[in-house]
Amino acid sequence: MSERHEFRTEARQLLGLMIHSVYSNKDIFLRELISNSSDALDKRRFEAVRQPELLPEGTELAIRIDADPGARTLSVSDNGIGMTREEVRDLIGTIAKSGTQEFLRALREAKDAAASTALIGQFGVGFYSTFMVADRVELVTRRAGEAAATRWVSAGDGWYTLDDAAREEPGTTVTLHLKPADEEDGLKDFTKEWEIRQLVRQYSDFVAYPVRMEVERTERDGEGEGAERTVRALETLNSMKAIWLRGRDEVTEEEYHEFYRHISHDWNDPLLRIQAKIEGTLEYRLLLYIPSKAPWDLAYRHMDRARGVHLYVKRVFIMDDCSDLLPEYLRFVRGVVDSEDLPLNISREILQQNRQIQRMNRGVTAKVLGALKDLAEKDPEKYAAFWAEFGRVLKEGLFQDAENRGALLDLARLRSTAGDAETSLADYVARMKPGQTEIYYLTGENPETLRRSPHLEGFAAKGWEVLLLSDPVDEVWTGAVEKYGDFALVSAARGTAAAGSEEERKQEEEARSEREKEDAPLLARMREALGDRVKDVRLSSRLTESAACLVSDEGDLSPQLERILKAMGQEAPAVRRILELNPDHPVMAALRRRHAADPAAPVVAEYAELLFGQAVLAEGGQLPDPAAFARRVAELMARAAE
Ligand code: ADP
Repeated sequence: MSERHEFRTEARQLLGLMIHSVYSNKDIFLRELISNSSDALDKRRFEAVRQPELLPEGTELAIRIDADPGARTLSVSDNGIGMTREEVRDLIGTIAKSGTQEFLRALREAKDAAASTALIGQFGVGFYSTFMVADRVELVTRRAGEAAATRWVSAGDGWYTLDDAAREEPGTTVTLHLKPADEEDGLKDFTKEWEIRQLVRQYSDFVAYPVRMEVERTERDGEGEGAERTVRALETLNSMKAIWLRGRDEVTEEEYHEFYRHISHDWNDPLLRIQAKIEGTLEYRLLLYIPSKAPWDLAYRHMDRARGVHLYVKRVFIMDDCSDLLPEYLRFVRGVVDSEDLPLNISREILQQNRQIQRMNRGVTAKVLGALKDLAEKDPEKYAAFWAEFGRVLKEGLFQDAENRGALLDLARLRSTAGDAETSLADYVARMKPGQTEIYYLTGENPETLRRSPHLEGFAAKGWEVLLLSDPVDEVWTGAVEKYGDFALVSAARGTAAAGSEEERKQEEEARSEREKEDAPLLARMREALGDRVKDVRLSSRLTESAACLVSDEGDLSPQLERILKAMGQEAPAVRRILELNPDHPVMAALRRRHAADPAAPVVAEYAELLFGQAVLAEGGQLPDPAAFARRVAELMARAAE
């Protein structure tokens, strides 16, 4: 049955881009095809662990390249897992990657060729890259375990056709009808043997399956003098050497990068490479990479982990997304772990309970955190780039991984009142003032609002530093982490948090409660006016400029966390907070006078409302009834202007 389909909009746009691409590195289409084939071979082998009939005894998994200079075609074949008709439609006809929209928008907005090239590089276009070099692409595929085969053909003009096809073996063949060679445009003659040979060696040498091509060779009949003749014979073009087994001095930086691209499908160079051989009761090698850019879906737990850590057992590929090898908060790490001890037929279900895997997980985590620590010490600038991309995810570890909490706290880089740059906690501690025994932080939604928060006034007055935390995850980890070293982490929005030595604080507290006694009737009236919206109304010793602020009682949820929980659809108890008033503010002085003259003066209740509203707004919060607040302010303005 023949069907004609139109590409989805995004796919069409992407195709158009490829065809008119200014991307000079057109060679990469071959590595993309070989990489897809290699993945498909991995999958067939993996599925055959459960369903041995998918891989009959004696089948050799391999990739084959055929070039026909006369017809100007080049094809890449594999006997991998193949695709069903539906899969062809879903995987090739559309772009499954949900980041495509954003990518295309960014691409349209990119100013010049260099910018768009960088974007194409960042996104990676896989199969679509074939349209940079071919004006027609044909794909014939048969899914292992099925009899029917499918042919997909497109000229990259926005349409493709699907037909029934015949194919003896499971697997996929992609045939490119090449555009004329044009060296200036980066289009080499991809039918030339040495061109192909060179590309395979450059990009795909480490692929674990043979990449074969028929080549011409001169042979002599018999020894010595025999007549020369030309024979055609299959030759394997790649060395197939597992890159993580080779000595570091044997592998070039470029080869390491290529391998990274192969497993991650990320076209950027990685930021960091981590290599280790672990010996002892458990033996394994690892070759891991940290990407230089966070994938668009990093924030989500369900991010595409297929390009995560590949598990090998004694050089045999087992699976490509072994999430059990790393904790969730290191989900951005890519690479290979090759175990000497696990059984070859290990399945995903067994993995989760396997004790060895759990111990490897611990070992691999320690290696990654150790490598990050080294990076932070040796190359702070590069580390800052890492933190900017992945810091938010790493912070999840602070509450998920109690065992590595100390290491993670050392890795954290946080904004603070000490300057614009982010600081480590160690540096914060080094800057602590005499008499300071706690680390202070303030959480909120926006760094700028935080910087101007009334909660900081008391700290600013004494020059004490406060960490300013504005990632949603900050709410969660600060709730779980009590200490850094010997120093307790304390929210500056807690009622009891204040700058100053113990002695100073004691004196201030005494003075405060002295004055509070005098203001007791006034405060009681305000408490009454605000009802159960506040837990208490009291005088503050922290405010120097603002008239009021809201502080949390010991053990209460912060308002940000309350908001996050609600946004996540969770029941959060409505937390009442304490309204603190600046006793030296002119508003308070005026209120005292009015209240003394007339204990029933309505202005007290009105002002209580306004002070409460202000305090909510100053910390970036939302008023339950903003219109009522605005009305009150307007009335007040009218009266004042009279
Ligand atoms: P990516 O490889 O980055 O996912 P591609 O556009 O290259 O993007 O491929 C899309 C999907 O099509 C692949 O993820 C895979 O499922 C399928 N595919 C591509 N080539 C093959 C192949 N040779 N054999 C089986 N499936 C393939």
